[in-house]
Formats: sequence, structure tokens, C-alpha cells
Amino acid sequence: MNRKVIEPGATIGVIGSGQLGRMTALAAARLGYRVHVYSPENDSPTEQVCAAATVAPYDDEEALKSFADAVDVITFEFENVPYESVQILANLAPVHPRWECLYVARNRVREKQFINDCGIGTAPWREVKSEADIAAALVDIGRPSILKTAELGYDGKGQVRIDGEITAADAWETFEDAGQGVLEGMVDFEKEISVIVARTTRGEMRCYEPVENRHKNGILDVTIAPADIDPEVAESAIDIAQTLAEKLDLVGLLAVEMFVLRSGKILVNEMAPRPHNSGHWTIDACLTSQFEQFVRAVCGLPLGNTERHSNAVMQNLIGDDIRSWSSVLENSSAKLHLYGKAEPRPGRKMGHVTRISALAPSSD
Ligand code: AMP
Repeated sequence: MNRKVIEPGATIGVIGSGQLGRMTALAAARLGYRVHVYSPENDSPTEQVCAAATVAPYDDEEALKSFADAVDVITFEFENVPYESVQILANLAPVHPRWECLYVARNRVREKQFINDCGIGTAPWREVKSEADIAAALVDIGRPSILKTAELGYDGKGQVRIDGEITAADAWETFEDAGQGVLEGMVDFEKEISVIVARTTRGEMRCYEPVENRHKNGILDVTIAPADIDPEVAESAIDIAQTLAEKLDLVGLLAVEMFVLRSGKILVNEMAPRPHNSGHWTIDACLTSQFEQFVRAVCGLPLGNTERHSNAVMQNLIGDDIRSWSSVLENSSAKLHLYGKAEPRPGRKMGHVTRISALAPSSD
């Protein structure tokens, strides 16, 4: 493990160029770093705020080599990069998190197997690769259940709910192109929560406290910080996130999404080895945002204070929601964040608003 400290003034290479890269670049700049972004997209949300950009396909070996030469450390703002590309980069520059973390997190079969192998519960699931697999899995798991693509699904995309009359053949018809998937039992959860943990090359870890997430059409709508859960549930959630980060030997950030059942039991839904939408509230309500913490972890700096100085509710601005930007600016307790995306397509994350309120005074 490369434990070299990458000092302010250095250049951080970021693979991927969406809003997560943009907010990482802004936090990095505040600490005196430059960010060089690599992605196939022109005029991306990240490129707009970066010191340098390489616009090239993820499998362009020459472009990858020049990029590695131009930066001091490399990280990712999304996990769907070919591993061959990550392996090329890892031979040329320090890469955090290590490619194995992306390999596990980008595929739902490997991810769920890994989580279960750590002794942590998930919804009941089966790998499926054919109509016959779906039929057999439906016998084990029952209905309602959800069929999810193993790879490249996000924000509820690549998912089919199997309920009532839908047959294995119907489900496979909409799914065949994906080739591999998981059939998951529906979880009757009380709440969805997430925990974000940062881990350094020295194994130091710091967590943000659990937050509650509410989804609309499979896309995160609102995050409430802190989550209204029992202290023991919060403690278990933090413990789960730390166990997963340690077992992955992850350097950077790990966001873990979980279901809390009425019994207080926690099941993990999925994890992402990068900053996460459910951590955007930390920009306005914590001394150290998730993005600064990410930069600190990847550069080998000491981790920052993750305490919350305000309560926060983060609302995503999706598609046409962005048209409300001027009224948000009139609200004195709301903070507006826009991502520089030109076209407000349905389902596209255009920005977010964080509404802040004072912490309740301590009772002691
Ligand atoms: P995912 O893309 O797996 O994060 O799913 C998006 C959202 O769909 C989750 O945040 C949940 O609200 C819902 N969902 C996914 N899987 C399940 C499940 N097994 N049981 C109940 N709800 C689920």
C-alpha cells in the first residue's frame, strides 16, 4: 500500500465527470489541490470547475498513460470504469480506492456475496442468468420481488418488479439484454438509511452519522440528517459500514445504503466506494464535508471532524425541479447547489437544496 502523503499543491486525477467529481474538485481546490478530470464527456459538470481535463474513452491506453503522468494520485467519482483501465493506471500512479473495491461494488452479485461473506444481512437474493433461473428463484424467494441487472443499474434503472401475474418469461423478456441479474425479495422496511465512512491508508476511519433517505421512482428524493432511529440501530449501522470498509481494505469513502426493519434489524441494500448523494448535506451541516473527507483520505491527510453543527434536509432537484432555483435563493435557511448541466431531462439530477436548522439545545 502506497502511504505517501500527497500534499496541497499536487494534482488529483478524478475519473468520471458528474456532479460528484464537481463537488470533489471544489473541495480539493479549497485545500489547495488541482483536479485533472478524465472522462469521455465534453463540458461536463466536473470539467467546468477543474484545472485540467482529458476527454477520451475509458479504454484509450495512450490517453490513460498521459493522464497518469500528469497527476499525483488517482481516484473515481463512479465505479463503471473497465478494470483493465484501472489496472493500467495503478501501474503508473497511486490509485485509491484499489480496483478490487470497484470490482466488488459495480456488480450486484459480487457485492451481495461479499456483504453476506462479511456476516452482514441483505434481502434474500439469487443470481439469475436465464428464464429458468428466474422461475427457480421465484419459487425460493416468492413475490413480490425485484429483478435487478447485475451491472450498470442505478437510480432504479434496470429493475423490474415481479408481482401478481408477471411470469418468469415476461420478466426475462424485459431483461434478456442484461444477461446477468439478481432476483431480490421485497423488504418491508420501516426506513432507509445510509452511512458514509472514510478510511485512510493507515486504516484510520471516521463516519458521518446515519441519515434517512426517501426515494421517489427509485431515485433519492430527500435525505434527513440525522435519521430518527434508536442509538443502538445507529451504532449497528456504523459498525456495518466500518466492517465493510475494512474488509474491502478501502482507501477513500464508502457509502452504505441500508434498510431498517421494524424489529430494528438492518439489511444492506448496496454500497458505493465514492462520495454519495446521501452525503451532500455534509457540505452545509458539517465542519468537514464528505468531499473534503474524500480528498483527505485519498491524499493520505488526517481525516476531518465529521460532527454535525446543524440539522439538515437535503432535497434533490431532478429534471424540471431546477426551475425553482430563484425561489430557493429567497429562503434564508436554504442553500442552493447547481451542477452546471444544460438540459433538465426527466430523472436527471440537476442540483440540490440543503435546508438547515439549529441543533436542539443539549439537555445536560
Ligand atoms: P437500488 O437501485 O437497489 O438502490 O434501489 C433503489 C430503491 O428501490 C431503494 O432505495 C429502495 O427504495 C427500493 N428497493 C430496492 N430494492 C428493494 C428491496 N429488495 N425491497 C424493497 N425496496 C427496494
